[in-house]
Amino acid sequence: MNDVERRRLAQEKMDRGELPRVDPQRIWIQPGMGESCALCSAAITETAYELQFTLRLVSFWFHDACYATWLAESAKPVCGLPSSPPFA
Ligand SMILES: [Zn+2]
Repeated sequence: MNDVERRRLAQEKMDRGELPRVDPQRIWIQPGMGESCALCSAAITETAYELQFTLRLVSFWFHDACYATWLAESAKPVCGLPSSPPFA
């Protein structure tokens, strides 16, 4: 999965409510234990690090790259109405 796909997936999952839009403040980093990544859904194997946090009793696991992508995307403003045309 390339970076563009990962960013698009992060936005889709936040739109669907499958991923939160808040900075968890506190995360755990440890060698992968085989959990599924909350973003790309692939297993996080012991050859990678997993980043984990819990929000409202729900735990999320991410690959480090997936976490960085999600965090960057979650910080963007939510797109609603299209912006005004420049000469309106
Ligand atoms: Zn991932």
